[in-house]
Amino acid sequence: MIRSYEKNSACRKTAKNGENFRNGTPIVPGVCHGQCLILAGDDALRNVKITRKKDVEREKRRLRQAVETVRASLAASAKSVKELLSEADENIFPMYEILLDDPTLQQKIQDFLNERFDLPSALALTSQAFQEELQDLSSKYLGERLQDIQDVLLRLMNAVRNPDEAAAVQPSDSTTPIVLVARELFPSQFLAAPLERVCGIVCTAGGATSHAAILARALRIPMLVDVPEIYDLVKPTDELLVDCRAGLCFLNPKESLLKEYQLALNISRRNRQIPRNAPLPAVDDLPATLDGTQVKLCGNITLFSELPALHSVGIRDIGLYRTEFMFMIRNSMPDEEIQCRVLKRLVEGTPDAEIVIRALDIGGDKPLSYVPWDEELNPSLGWRGLRFLLTNPEIAMHHLRAILRNCLSRNVKLMFPMVSDKSDLIRIKELVRNAQESLDADGLEYGTPSIGMMLEVPSAVLTLDTLLPEVDFVSIGTNDLVQYLFAVDRGNGRVTQWYQQCHPIVLRMLGKICKTVAKFPGKDLELCGELAGNPSALPALLGAGLRKLSMNPTAIPNIRDLIRKVRLNDCEELFQRVCEADTAEQVAEYLDDFAESMR
Ligand code: PEP
Ligand code: MG
Repeated sequence: MIRSYEKNSACRKTAKNGENFRNGTPIVPGVCHGQCLILAGDDALRNVKITRKKDVEREKRRLRQAVETVRASLAASAKSVKELLSEADENIFPMYEILLDDPTLQQKIQDFLNERFDLPSALALTSQAFQEELQDLSSKYLGERLQDIQDVLLRLMNAVRNPDEAAAVQPSDSTTPIVLVARELFPSQFLAAPLERVCGIVCTAGGATSHAAILARALRIPMLVDVPEIYDLVKPTDELLVDCRAGLCFLNPKESLLKEYQLALNISRRNRQIPRNAPLPAVDDLPATLDGTQVKLCGNITLFSELPALHSVGIRDIGLYRTEFMFMIRNSMPDEEIQCRVLKRLVEGTPDAEIVIRALDIGGDKPLSYVPWDEELNPSLGWRGLRFLLTNPEIAMHHLRAILRNCLSRNVKLMFPMVSDKSDLIRIKELVRNAQESLDADGLEYGTPSIGMMLEVPSAVLTLDTLLPEVDFVSIGTNDLVQYLFAVDRGNGRVTQWYQQCHPIVLRMLGKICKTVAKFPGKDLELCGELAGNPSALPALLGAGLRKLSMNPTAIPNIRDLIRKVRLNDCEELFQRVCEADTAEQVAEYLDDFAESMR
């Protein structure tokens, strides 16, 4: 999906220091330098000047060539996706393959070519015709197919418009690192790029919790968003130097600048390499404070490819596995067997480890492209997480069956997102029972895992004592808890000043949760939001009573060191102080003072 180059020299400004640079918001850290690969959005099918050509045969030849180019690039993508993302497999693009040869689609394009439209026009008109035919039909199957058809047509359009660039996406001996440039990056585009060569991402728009950002973070690819004009500014032969520490990117940087950046580029490249086959350090997941209080550490995993990184920091247990990714990287709903196979890889890849599998948490900022999602005015308050599962019992049934078939060991647990009250829990537990009964009926082996819930909706926090008897454990999801507590969209850059995780109200709430759970012996409590990996918050979290934290693997070494440097008494005193604060600024001051006193 490579956009054709439109020269936009008006945008090419030169900065005072002689470098042409743009500012942006870094959402995945690191520094990188590579050649631009520009990815088009689906507007490339709409913004076509309809043109007729006399030489029909020539246009048909171009179509045949484009089909072959797309076929080759799909095969290459499937291979690289499989190598990098165990959540996927070669079958991830089967619908595209089938559609490329689909007689109805081919006939429609040929009909427009026979009417003497040139190939780009024929592709655009075919797209329009399918939309008109299929959009009114409420069939879910056809809705999904329309999405696939548009995707195939877009790939053909890109192959026609950029034959050289399309070729560049195919495997070659080239090892030139690539910086993806898009207005807004979609996961399917991301996956269609030569992932092993992608060293960075720069986008005009996008948020820190976008699907692409989740993917980039898991693959440790530096990503800069909110870079004005960048999509219109660059052309495919351009190079970009991306600095996600300073929030800058430089277009065609000079040699002298690259020299200055050499060390940072080397370090960033090394940090990206996930250690494989290196001797693993011993498990070190129970550090203790100076006075001997143990704190359990585990990892949040979005992709299996993060497992070596987790193991390399002495951690095996997974406090949160987000299942949505295997759904988001596909263009159609993965069936039970696919889900089962994917989860089996996770369970087998971490033998004996405790794994908390979180049931599908889509919707909000994570819709599925192949599920018709009527426009929602407040997606985060809408058809999301548990609500999606409860209103799609068939999808829930296959999903739960796939998870239960992988819970044969007691170490594998099942957790539900976005629980808002007791009736949510009762309903989902009934679905779990139904899934178990149907597995019994089919004679399939399954487990009866511990069942937990995320604490991320304030109504659930307020009624926690009535929910705890229904579950074995709870996990605090501060990312969403803060969003819903302050009614502030966690992905909206304009309101980040109201999205404060270290706010006294949040900390008081955490203290209350710890106290409530302590009244229910045997119920486990963990915190798995981003706050768990925040070093300055750590003493306050320990002071609140938290003893189990699950975080991004990269945050673990620092947090473990800090735990070993603090005294619980001091943490508890600090916690009292921050809870009495009026503002987040005051909390920040207390936390800074505490960090300073430890130096
Ligand atoms: C959370 O909300 O804190 C959480 C861990 O879940 P997610 O970020 O996947 O919504
Ligand atoms: Mg959440």
